[in-house]
Amino acid sequence: MGKFVYSFNEGSKDMRHLLGGKGANLAEMTKIGLPVPFGFTVTTEACNRYYSEDCIIAEDTEEEIFQKLTELENVTGKSFGDVSNPLLVSVRSGAVFSMPGMMDTILNLGLNDETVEGLAKLTENDRFAYDSYRRFIQMFGDVVLEISKSKFDAIFDAKKEEKGCKFDVDLETDDLKAIIVDYKALVQSEIGRAFPQEPKEQLMEAVMAVFRSWNNERAILYRQLNNIPSDLGTAVNVQSMVFGNMGDTSGTGVAFTRNPANGEPKLFGEFLVNAQGEDVVAGIRTPQPISEMEIAFPEVYKEFVRIAELLENHYTDMQDMEFTVERNKLFMLQTRNGKRTAAAAVKIAVDMEQDGLIDKKTAVTRLEPAQIDQLLHPMFDAEELKKAQTLAKGLPASPGAATGKIYFHASDAVDAVANGEKAVLVRIETSPEDLAGMVVAEGILTARGGMTSHAAVVARGMGKCCVAGCSEIKVNEEEKTLVIGDEKFVEGDYISIDGTAGEVFKGKIKTVAPELSGDFGLIMKWADEIRTLKVRTNADNPRDAKQAVDFGAEGIGLCRTEHMFFEEERIPAVRRMIVADTEEERRAALIQLLPFQKSDFKGIYEVMEDRPVTIRLLDPPLHEFLPHTDEEIKLLSEQIHVPYEKLAKKVEDLHEFNPMLGHRGCRLAVTYPEIAEMQAEAIIMAAIELKKEKNMDIVPEIMIPLVGLEKELAYVKKTVVETIEKCFEREGIRLNYLIGTMIEVPRAALTADEIAKEAEFFSFGTNDLTQMTFGFSRDDTGKIIKEYRDKLVFEEDPFQTLDQVGVGKLVKMAVELGRATRANIKLGICGEHGGDPKTIEFCHSIGLNYVSCSPFRVPIARLAAAQAVVRSEQDK
Ligand code: PEP
Ligand code: MG
Repeated sequence: MGKFVYSFNEGSKDMRHLLGGKGANLAEMTKIGLPVPFGFTVTTEACNRYYSEDCIIAEDTEEEIFQKLTELENVTGKSFGDVSNPLLVSVRSGAVFSMPGMMDTILNLGLNDETVEGLAKLTENDRFAYDSYRRFIQMFGDVVLEISKSKFDAIFDAKKEEKGCKFDVDLETDDLKAIIVDYKALVQSEIGRAFPQEPKEQLMEAVMAVFRSWNNERAILYRQLNNIPSDLGTAVNVQSMVFGNMGDTSGTGVAFTRNPANGEPKLFGEFLVNAQGEDVVAGIRTPQPISEMEIAFPEVYKEFVRIAELLENHYTDMQDMEFTVERNKLFMLQTRNGKRTAAAAVKIAVDMEQDGLIDKKTAVTRLEPAQIDQLLHPMFDAEELKKAQTLAKGLPASPGAATGKIYFHASDAVDAVANGEKAVLVRIETSPEDLAGMVVAEGILTARGGMTSHAAVVARGMGKCCVAGCSEIKVNEEEKTLVIGDEKFVEGDYISIDGTAGEVFKGKIKTVAPELSGDFGLIMKWADEIRTLKVRTNADNPRDAKQAVDFGAEGIGLCRTEHMFFEEERIPAVRRMIVADTEEERRAALIQLLPFQKSDFKGIYEVMEDRPVTIRLLDPPLHEFLPHTDEEIKLLSEQIHVPYEKLAKKVEDLHEFNPMLGHRGCRLAVTYPEIAEMQAEAIIMAAIELKKEKNMDIVPEIMIPLVGLEKELAYVKKTVVETIEKCFEREGIRLNYLIGTMIEVPRAALTADEIAKEAEFFSFGTNDLTQMTFGFSRDDTGKIIKEYRDKLVFEEDPFQTLDQVGVGKLVKMAVELGRATRANIKLGICGEHGGDPKTIEFCHSIGLNYVSCSPFRVPIARLAAAQAVVRSEQDK
């Protein structure tokens, strides 16, 4: 078998996969000569082996652990179980990626009825020794023996009350001894055997408990939230104890080399005199700011400042350190790259680049793309948020924070906002008809729908906060009530939602506006210099297009024309077109739409100037444009002067059992070519008019959706080209344009070499491609996906992060087949995945030309594209 245990002087920071982050850094600090209490690390491989061998530690691993223990005894001059000079250790978990507070720790291991006396003599401090022992029994009882902590607390608190003590420190040695007797009795009665007295047995049990803690509930949840793979396992660090609770010349603390909230380059942290590690976190006493350590321990402070600087320079990143002072001697217990806010990340990266500590390429990797959202959207005021009451949790569908009064109908929200109110639109789910309400609302909350539901996609497009698929809430749109648990809300009540975390809060919470500092702009500039992928945006109107350009978009990758059809002046004509019985009637309605579409496109072209614009022909099933309830149908029949019976029949005829696999996409254009003709004419005429009026050279990219067959594409393309030719002849002018297709039906990916004969570009519609590859409805699977994630069937939501193994294989295949037929074919992605950093790295690796995402994700995509370059260079 291999090697499963490493002493601290055998490892280095580059071994984190084996030793975990904590173990690797303890080894590194040991290597560079810092004062680290000696110890050893049991590897992540040992953890995985433990799980694969029925949760038993193999004999050879146990032997290795005991060998390292002997080495530790030699180095420290102490021995396990030695009454006169006992070795005591801490046992801590340490995963590859830090999971703060998620797994378990045991201190003072090695104490028993005898060594406690040795410790008392050695330190000449009885109270300290017995206090350490009772803490150890308590921690071991809780973590290893799984006896509820509250049972230990009850014993402890009863003694305090009996003695009339206010603080723990008021208890005397004899009280602690009595508590220990009771603790041991508790253990005996709970587990039917005595508290283990043999230190080696304690050690092995503790190691296994840490392995088990890898799969405790909170660790699993943390991994899910942070996309940490569940098969990495945790390492276990066994380290000789140092004591911060040996009186007023001892203490313990935590510090960052820079301020993790705002990035200020100044030591930031806290320490506590005469205390052990967990006291700082537990909030038993209020710690002092680190700067005051200079007064309490001037020499130690100087040494600490020196080490902090040294570590930051060594790791070339901001460090988060834990330390203990034992009788005026400093010991380093941990260092790691510190977690920080987005604002701090930006400042630290720029400061370090300017100090020459890191280069630009490294600097752009220091900002988490997902974190940038914090800088682009409003957030809740941190102080107010602390006091807020959480009501429910849903999907974090679109980031930002919103607070306002509840409205259940788009029209009510519109009226309320017109009257100066702030509205949060609450719906079971949204549909295109709710658009006007979504535009005016501060945020959107829905009970159903996943990350690519209508609400989620549209809200992200608008940069508007949205919590979707919040299954804990009950919305009654008729009665205009919202019930969450046993609380009931009515129209006009205040509610707050956090689309970054997916949380719903009661009442009003103040929001603060985003600030795009100069440093942020600088990092984005560096990212643009580094990346090779272009970044476009999905936008359907000049407002979104402008927002995206401001955020650095280099073109439009997807303009969904159907969104324009819903606007108030057009929808009657759209509906007349749909209910038409003859081609002639349909054409008559389409002629009315033409000028609207043309001016839509002109508006977008004008904003985008010389940047490429991809416009997609009509995609959704037609019934989406029609009303469904009797009442609405009656109303419409009056509005468009079509008899009620005829209209009702049409609505029924258009009903499909599976509309997402039905009459939509290019199938509409094959059956009703006149729709494609109208759109092609609008696209080209908008460009011709801008050429004539402003001498602008627009090169429209016309995109045909949902193609699965070369012939389908050829058929629609013929219609489009003939229309365009007619325009050219009539106007006496010719322009360049491209015709391409979306690859969103698996058959299209499989036959991309055929399709590429007709297509000058491919844009991967990974929403539909994911839906059809998995056979998972994109609108109905939110709940299933949540269960799948809880049960670890899915590590990630495939509608957010591309499933590279399956769907990605189709994409890669289509890239290769497409290029084989047409070497210079333009390739992009416009599904929601186009704004996801992991997917962007994949897109870079398979050689796409661009990614396209909603405007607010453009900066994320720019940064992720740059990071993809840096990472691929590192991999080489
Ligand atoms: C897609 O399917 O990925 C896509 C971009 O199109 P839509 O979301 O409009 O179906
Ligand atoms: Mg699609």
